[in-house]
Amino acid sequence: MALIHCPECGQEISDKSRVCVHCGYPLVCGKIKITCDKIVGKHRISIMDAESGEVLGSLCGGELLQLNIKKETKIIVKYSMFLKTTATLPYDGSHTYEITSGAGGMGIVFREISTIV
Ligand SMILES: [Zn+2]
Repeated sequence: MALIHCPECGQEISDKSRVCVHCGYPLVCGKIKITCDKIVGKHRISIMDAESGEVLGSLCGGELLQLNIKKETKIIVKYSMFLKTTATLPYDGSHTYEITSGAGGMGIVFREISTIV
């Protein structure tokens, strides 16, 4: 266990804490990894926050995108103007997802491939 400084109040806390014990600030604990196959990843895929519309990151085939989320987050996985899918990223432990092309090369599929809680 290591000590880090809370980004909100600046006091020392464990790096394993989920919230700051001093001020209650929520600390990063949702670690999300997203990979993408080479077929669907010919084009850059954007991961957007479904509520705010903010782009959280993007990736092409063979790349690994890592996101740290502070709460359960609904996302839009956007492939093009017309091709997108939605998902909810859970806020507990580490989750790895994969983006693949759908059956018959139609659509995109966003699926979880591993969880470490
Ligand atoms: Zn704090």
